[in-house]
Amino acid sequence: MEKFNRFGNMFPPKEMLDRSYLLAEEPFKIKGNLYSIGNTWCSSHLIDTGEGLIILDVPCIAEMPYLIDAIWRIGFDPKDIKYIIVSHAHVDHYGCVNALKQISGAKTFMGKIDVKDMKESLERFDDMNKSQHGFNESFVTDVELEDGDIVELGNTKIRCVLTPGHTIGTMSHFWDLEEDGKTYHVGIYGGAGFGSVSTGALKRMNLPLSLQEEFGKSIDKVWNENVDIMLGNHPFHNDIYDKHERMIAGEQDAFVDSSEWKRFLTELRDGYTRFLKMSKDEVDNMYKRSAFLNYRNIHNFENN
Ligand SMILES: [Zn+2]
Repeated sequence: MEKFNRFGNMFPPKEMLDRSYLLAEEPFKIKGNLYSIGNTWCSSHLIDTGEGLIILDVPCIAEMPYLIDAIWRIGFDPKDIKYIIVSHAHVDHYGCVNALKQISGAKTFMGKIDVKDMKESLERFDDMNKSQHGFNESFVTDVELEDGDIVELGNTKIRCVLTPGHTIGTMSHFWDLEEDGKTYHVGIYGGAGFGSVSTGALKRMNLPLSLQEEFGKSIDKVWNENVDIMLGNHPFHNDIYDKHERMIAGEQDAFVDSSEWKRFLTELRDGYTRFLKMSKDEVDNMYKRSAFLNYRNIHNFENN
C-alpha cells in the first residue's frame, strides 16, 4: 500500500485545502536558471531565460498569493512572465492561469489534445474548477502543443513529449540548463497520478478506457530520456522539499541524480501494474489513505 502514496490521491486533506496558507512553501533556486516556486500540494517551476520568465504549471487561485510572493522573493517580477506552460488540464495545474495572464500578458501553452478536451467538455471542467476554493477558471490556450514541439525563449529550449494517461493529452517536458559551464538535462513527467485512470473515474469523466493502456505506453515512451535533474509536478513525485533541506544542509547537488528518472518510472510502472489489478474497494481505500501520507505538517489533521 505504501508504494502507491506518490501516485494515488494527489489531493491534500480537506482541512489543509481549506486553509491555503498551510500549503505555502519557501521558494528557492534548484540549479542554474531554474527555481521552485510551488506549494506543498502542487509544484510550479520558474525558468529565467534571459528574455523573460517561463512558468511551468500554476496552482489554483487560492494558492496564487504564495506563487506571486515566491516570484518576488527569488528576485523576479511577475510582470516578466512571458510563457505559462501547463502540463495537463487539471485545475491544480492551471487554476490561476487567467489571473497571471492579466498581470503579465503571458502566452499560454498546453497539449493540443487537452486543449480540445477543455473546449469540448465544458461542464466537466466547470465542475472541476468549482471543486476547489476560489474562482478557478478554464483558459484559452495560445499555443497548442503537439508531440515533439519545442518551446523556445531566450536561453531555453523545452522539448514537449505527449505522454497521455493521467489526462488524455498530458505532455512531459525536457530541456537543458547550464551552471558553471556544465550542462544538466532536466525532465518532468507530465502527470503521474493514476487515480484518474481507474475504470470508475474514466467512466465518470466520459473518457475512453484505452487511456489505461496509454498510461503504460507513455512510461515506455520516455524511458530512455537522459535526465540529470528530475522535477515533478507534485512535490512528492521527486521529494523536492527533502532535497531542499539537504541543500540547506550544504549538499549543493542535492537535485542532481541521473538514476532518479528510471527509479521513478520503475516505481510508477510497478505501482500502476498493481493498481490495474486492484478491486474497486481497494482503489477507494488507496485513494482515501494516500492523501494523508504525502504532506508535511499533516499531524494536526490525522485524526479527522
Ligand atoms: Zn493531474
